[in-house]
Amino acid sequence: MAQYETHTPAELPELIRHYIDGEFVDSADGTTFDVINPVTNETYIQASAGQKEDVDRAVQVAKRTFQEGSWSQALPRERSKVLHRIADLVETRGDRLAELESFDTGLPITQALGQARRAAENFRFFADLIVAIADDTYKVPGRQINYVNRKPIGVAGLITPWNTPFMLESWKLGPALATGNSVVLKPAEFTPLSAGLWAGIFEEAGLPRGVFNLVNGIGEEAGDALVKHPEVPLISFTGESSTGQLIFANSAPYLKGLSMELGGKSPAIVFADADLEAAINATIFGVFSLNGERCTAGSRILVERSIYDEFVERYAAQAKRVKVGLPHEPTTEVGALVHPEHFEKVMSYVEKGKSEGRLVAGGDRPEGYETGNFITPTVFADVAPDASIFQEEIFGPVVAITPFDTEDEALELANNTKYGLAAYVWTNDLKRSHNFAQAVEAGMVWLNSNNVRDLRTPFGGVKASGLGHEGGYRSIDFYTDQQAIHINL
Ligand code: NAD
Repeated sequence: MAQYETHTPAELPELIRHYIDGEFVDSADGTTFDVINPVTNETYIQASAGQKEDVDRAVQVAKRTFQEGSWSQALPRERSKVLHRIADLVETRGDRLAELESFDTGLPITQALGQARRAAENFRFFADLIVAIADDTYKVPGRQINYVNRKPIGVAGLITPWNTPFMLESWKLGPALATGNSVVLKPAEFTPLSAGLWAGIFEEAGLPRGVFNLVNGIGEEAGDALVKHPEVPLISFTGESSTGQLIFANSAPYLKGLSMELGGKSPAIVFADADLEAAINATIFGVFSLNGERCTAGSRILVERSIYDEFVERYAAQAKRVKVGLPHEPTTEVGALVHPEHFEKVMSYVEKGKSEGRLVAGGDRPEGYETGNFITPTVFADVAPDASIFQEEIFGPVVAITPFDTEDEALELANNTKYGLAAYVWTNDLKRSHNFAQAVEAGMVWLNSNNVRDLRTPFGGVKASGLGHEGGYRSIDFYTDQQAIHINL
């Protein structure tokens, strides 16, 4: 038993169920799985474990609705209005959403609230974008006029991870629905609680019944069935690179459209001429916010040698001030990691790190938190580039700091992992910052900046961090077919 009082939200459902054809339903064979409270690691609820036949039912409903056309053929303005109403409802229910999300994931409540706002913004953004789409027309004088006819594809399979679940679901649901597709969502099995809220929100906003379908379950069962379903022509997946590889292979026989947002081990590079105070604040936030369970976490910090000792000392001192606490407390900055399995994984890296680097902060459980998935913000200095804590995604509040002497060496270190999601560059040399951004192998670069998103820009990684980019028009492109129509004059 936990030695502290945990906060349990009121009015939890009795069971987390699927939502198919406008109804909450159980798995056909009644199978369920345990969902754990990350503060106590006790099972607090059961969730329906979708099997092949549940996925098939959801896909058939989504397909039928798509063919009926009440959503797929609605005018963009009509769809936009519904999406704006969804955004309004998400905003109005932000506190409840954040409460459920924080309880289920262990994320600090203030940060969960920020993610709920992001979810609303994602819907608002695609609601605006879909009425502003302009497709190309080409003229061959005297001979032809040719134009692009953009069409929704059909049933979109959406598979999402457990970090910031509701927000990441919105990042796929927003553009998939804006473009007129029907969807089947398979949320992560560690954190299925908040996804059920979509049902009520969509219903109230006026999304036609059967357009949105939700099947909970284990990745290897429900997720796999969705990937292998022949009537799901596209899969948008966010999760680990190794899962992405498997899904890629499993989709190959069906030649599915794939969007893959995968893992990262993103570098933050701090040059001696940088604003050190700003760089320290941002790199602390970059790896310790969202419990470090952030795909774009700056989990490797490369620091120019002339400021290295000062940086490490100040960084460690600041890491020690980051407040670990119960997820529902408003003062908490790092809560509980999502699940004991994940906690064990993060702790195994911390143990390896003790021989791979110099531990300068954290590395253990915080005092008073003997149960649950709590860990102190952990900082290793002097980490060699071949160390596992430099190379592998830990996905927790653990950072590796490594010195460099020259810009070339910084670039070599930055590019020296299989990943290529994000990079953060800190320097006051304008030319260097742009040249470095050009050469670094990362899908997204932030110069003298924290990870602040502009929803119009491409989101995605290179190398093992992903395939394809979402964001702005790229999401619209992914969820639509662009048919060429040729007219002879
Ligand atoms: P995961 O790969 O274990 O699971 C992600 C989802 O895939 C879950 O819903 C899971 O049930 C499902 N799944 C698992 N096996 C499957 C299979 N064989 N077929 C179909 N579906 C399957 O990832 P996770 O542990 O939930 O999430 C953490 C990972 O996600 C990290 O690597 C993180 O970097 C990455 N991530 C990436 C981004 C991004 O935008 N690039 C954003 C958030 C998280």
